[in-house]
Amino acid sequence: MLKPLTDKQTKPNIKPSIFSLELHELEAWLTDIREPKFRGKQIFEWLYKKRVSSFEEMTNLPTGLREKLEKDFYIKPLKEVVRQESADGTIKFLFELQDGYSIETVLMRHEYGNSICVTTQVGCRLGCTFCASTLGGLKRNLQAGEIVAQVLQVQRALDVTEERVSSVVVMGIGEPFDNYEGLMSFLKIINHDLGLNIGARHITISTSGVVPYIYKFADEGMQINFAISLHAPNTETRSRLMPVNRMYPLNELMDSIRYYIKKTGRRVTFEYGLFGKVNDTVEHANELADLIKDIKCHVNLIPVNYVPERDYVRTPKTQIFKFLETLTSRGINATIRREQGHDIDAACGQLRAKERKEETR
Ligand code: SAH
Repeated sequence: MLKPLTDKQTKPNIKPSIFSLELHELEAWLTDIREPKFRGKQIFEWLYKKRVSSFEEMTNLPTGLREKLEKDFYIKPLKEVVRQESADGTIKFLFELQDGYSIETVLMRHEYGNSICVTTQVGCRLGCTFCASTLGGLKRNLQAGEIVAQVLQVQRALDVTEERVSSVVVMGIGEPFDNYEGLMSFLKIINHDLGLNIGARHITISTSGVVPYIYKFADEGMQINFAISLHAPNTETRSRLMPVNRMYPLNELMDSIRYYIKKTGRRVTFEYGLFGKVNDTVEHANELADLIKDIKCHVNLIPVNYVPERDYVRTPKTQIFKFLETLTSRGINATIRREQGHDIDAACGQLRAKERKEETR
């Protein structure tokens, strides 16, 4: 079992973000301070439609209410400390939080729209042996509002050209299910029609396989796309790559995924990073096909991103195609993930690790 997070990790000593509140929570706060409920919608409109960055700008609210908001909540935009633009249009942001920690957010441009990859935790405690996000462990969970603020900040950058964030992937730094409550509020706020109004089918979350939360998530009945970082065709290899597998072994993980599919009727995506000689042979592909043949899924093959602190090697292109062909010939739906932002440290945690050595040691 993962140990419960400490108070310092879940309740950092910082001002609550106004963007953490779902509409009904904002309305409850208003009721508490004897303000009319309809102010909730007005505030939401200022936050998400007009995208103001101070309470002062909310000119249709009484001054007293603006002062109360100011006293109780944090509204300042995330501070952009680094912006890296790739030749392919990908932009990676390093943002600084109220308490000085830093997080990464990535904007990817596709023909079908703008997609953004958000971070859910400062660091990560799951210790996947190939991942840069886990260097330095977990500092703290993000408040829901700090995840929302990432989308808002990128949306502000896109406002200049009248573009829109059209999809969101929760695949940045951190394990989303390790910050379950924050994640759920985040999803509800960006999905809300008075919030950022991003459709559930345009949102994808990815987990390393924290099994109890897969059951919980299945029961939420959300139409959100769901991905699992599988990375191995058997439990021994998976434990080697991902220590979380020692807590929630592969057979338990697969059971929870079957439950999810049964409950939601949706298919899942398996992310499978190809790590030279570790999990990338034709035998591995056949073993993988055996493992998932009865599961409604799609496999996303990811050529490994080299992380200097980690010593995995990339699988040669011809070998990647052989792996893909083996899966396809076995009737498994699979594609190779297109790489973006390769020239700008765009893989999880790479930019933060480079820029903030003291945070990730
Ligand atoms: N903690 C969640 C969310 C992160 S998603 C999860 O594990 O799913 C980011 C994806 O990139 C995950 O599939 C992760 O395993 C993968 N990843 C991390 N480091 C990588 C690397 N160096 N090369 C390729 N994929 C990597």
